[in-house]
Amino acid sequence: MTSTLAATSLTFAASPATAGDFVRPPAPRLLGTSVVYVEEHVGSRFDSALRSSIAFVDRYTTSDMRLGRCRTGYRCIRIVESNATRGHGAWTSWTDGRRTSEIRLSATLARKSWHTRRSILDHELGHANGARHNTKCTSRMWPDYRCGNGRLPARTFTKVERQALARW
Ligand SMILES: [Zn+2]
Repeated sequence: MTSTLAATSLTFAASPATAGDFVRPPAPRLLGTSVVYVEEHVGSRFDSALRSSIAFVDRYTTSDMRLGRCRTGYRCIRIVESNATRGHGAWTSWTDGRRTSEIRLSATLARKSWHTRRSILDHELGHANGARHNTKCTSRMWPDYRCGNGRLPARTFTKVERQALARW
């Protein structure tokens, strides 16, 4: 059985999250390790943005996401190109045990700018680590590419989102 969250995309945030503004409570490890493998199948065009997104989300989850093939005994996030995204730009799902998450990126995202791709990856990695949507455009979990003012959502997470990310 799989739980799903609609995932759209985001765009670039001009303001980087400032160091020290995120909570870091002790997170019980699902599998006794903070290492999470991120197995990507979307091509080199996403590599640079993906590395940036991994470093960004790791700060909130206290996980140690590593690009590489999924391995037994570790959580895994697979990133694949798929248009089975229910009309959204992207779609993230995970198993009940939370061990494996899947991020689907629709083909159109490959043509978006680097900042937009990174914003989308920040958002989807947020979902893959337990964050839900933000009804206000005050964080990366805003469920649209851009805020009403046309800008990318701020590159940060709200307090509630940080708590969810720290617990995942
Ligand atoms: Zn979403």
